Amino acid sequence: MKQEIKLVDLQRQYQEIREEVIEAIGSALDGMDLFLGPNVRQFEREFADYYGVSEGVGVASGTDAIHLALRACDIGPGDEVITVAHTFIAKVEAIAMTGARPIFVDVDAQTATMDPEQVTAAITPRTRALLPVHLYGQAADMNPLRGIAREYGLWIIEDASQAQGARYHGQRAGALGDVAAFSLYYSKNLGAYGEAGIATTNNPVIAERIRMLRDHGSRARYQHELLGMNSRLDEVHAAVLRVKLRRLDKWNEQRRSHATAYTARLRGRVATPVERSGSEHVYYTYVIQTDERDVIRDALAKKGVQTGIHYPVPLHLQPACAAFAPAPESLPITEQLAGRILSLPMFPELTTEEIERVCDLVEAPIPIGARRRTKGGIYGQ
Ligand SMILES: *Cc1c(COP(=O)(O)O)cnc(C)c1O
Repeated sequence: MKQEIKLVDLQRQYQEIREEVIEAIGSALDGMDLFLGPNVRQFEREFADYYGVSEGVGVASGTDAIHLALRACDIGPGDEVITVAHTFIAKVEAIAMTGARPIFVDVDAQTATMDPEQVTAAITPRTRALLPVHLYGQAADMNPLRGIAREYGLWIIEDASQAQGARYHGQRAGALGDVAAFSLYYSKNLGAYGEAGIATTNNPVIAERIRMLRDHGSRARYQHELLGMNSRLDEVHAAVLRVKLRRLDKWNEQRRSHATAYTARLRGRVATPVERSGSEHVYYTYVIQTDERDVIRDALAKKGVQTGIHYPVPLHLQPACAAFAPAPESLPITEQLAGRILSLPMFPELTTEEIERVCDLVEAPIPIGARRRTKGGIYGQ
């Protein structure tokens, strides 16, 4: 019988915290104060404190957090926002919904995050903001990006959806720009049991604007100062998130230890994730790179091991983004990564035996017929 290993298994974590979660949900419902109630307010406080920033504003999703952060910075039609194509589509949607235009720059080959060296050339008089992504659990290289933003007078909006708890030179990734947006989607390192998001900032004016925009542009009910939307965080989700936030550091430590075990076994066989110096990666995903990606992926699937590709088609090549496509071949690293990346199972409750089994399968020799020769040799770099 083949033993299945999921890419992300949320059932195990739920069993561990089940009683506490059910009690928290029960008590939120008993209070029946469901409109931006006490759990939302306390979660916002606790999350901001965890990040060492002054403000947290709970919203309905990560996509909304990015969108509302952009709007709070007054970004709209005619403006350009520099971002990456090697990521999930939410950023482009969030930028386009403001009326602004996303401008894609390439990523660094080792960490797959925004390459600061590509940014200056993409700046025009219309550029208003940089929107880097802390991808896979690791911060983008923020110091050079902050330098560029300062020099050109740009906002920095961090997409920290995949990096709850990660650090960059001692500071939390998500406390390094003007405002940070987080998805709290159920599979993230910190996730609700449904849709949720939060924006954080040290800027009280930005925070107040996001707070208004998430609730129909109002400070007081039925007094609408801005055209906003309905993007409130639910009380029940906030209650669950408070239970989970208390365990986030422990879970991230477990993820880091699994990554160390994977890398010890797989280094040399495939390109393993690179942790930039000064950066503390929290491994939302553990992503290897290899020219034999598809063969390895099939072999793992046959033995019941689920893997993922984050992401198989870069955004600039998606039909939905045709209007924003850059000149052909201007994002070579992004396009190369899409064919080489493979996400292995990663979640805090993964066992040593499971990691060993995944590694055995990744290391198994590739059948001659399935080999693909490339410049970097059979296995690439
Ligand atoms: C999950 C994710 C999002 C989307 O967040 P939602 O909560 O699903 O709207 C955006 N950006 C990145 C990098 C993500 O990983």
